Amino acid sequence: MTISSPVKLADLDPNRLFLLPLGVGSAFTRIRFHTSVLLIAGGRVVLVDAPAPLRRVMYEAEKKADLHIDANVVDALFLTHLHGDHCNGVEELGFFRRFNPALSRPALHIHESLVAPLWHRLEHAMSIEGDHSGLDGYFDIRTFNDGDQMDLGIPGFVLEPIRTNHFITCHGFKASYQGASIGYSSDTTFLPGLIDFFKDCDLILHDCGPGAGHTDPAALLALPEEIRRKIRVMHLVDEFDQASYPIEALEEGKLYSIEGSGQRA
Ligand SMILES: [Zn+2]
Repeated sequence: MTISSPVKLADLDPNRLFLLPLGVGSAFTRIRFHTSVLLIAGGRVVLVDAPAPLRRVMYEAEKKADLHIDANVVDALFLTHLHGDHCNGVEELGFFRRFNPALSRPALHIHESLVAPLWHRLEHAMSIEGDHSGLDGYFDIRTFNDGDQMDLGIPGFVLEPIRTNHFITCHGFKASYQGASIGYSSDTTFLPGLIDFFKDCDLILHDCGPGAGHTDPAALLALPEEIRRKIRVMHLVDEFDQASYPIEALEEGKLYSIEGSGQRA
């Protein structure tokens, strides 16, 4: 029997944009993990939303992708919004990093209007007596505004947030690196303007309902073929049936290597 070790992040091509979905499920899934992805560029790792239990979810992706990942490799967290299926793992990431002296605080990229609400959500669990640092004690907070172009500290990597239409303040984004780009809808109803924002991306990761606040699967099917073929759907209910839905679903634990002229697995 051969026992292989996972590939190390440092062994990935630093000039290529990689995507590793941790979860593609909806808020009430029993068979998938909550929707979250890792973006890997230049040897750096950006966690998009934080599912729970975070290290367990990352371990499952590590096994499927044969790529070593864990909460210690996350350089930055980008939070799309404050629903629990997208941010329940923030507490675990914060505690894990703070109480491991060898590890740094990860950057937290969050819309400026959500910094106080996030701490309001966490403070009863994460406040430490005598310590008034609040959320800053756990994360290097970097706020963004609509229309910003963010570099996230990775040379050549640009992330452009865009507001979506959900129940609460929520942002998707376009991420670009070395001529390759990914559009990420996060949670949203179908928005023609969002599709237009993503139209030149090589891969588009899109919410696929059903339900209020999410994207009607039929709306994606009505898009032109050149857009449809670039879409991978996510935030899937357990009843999602790939066999009867013509657009491909994003795969948990599959390492995608993004090329400027399309994407290859
Ligand atoms: Zn949501």
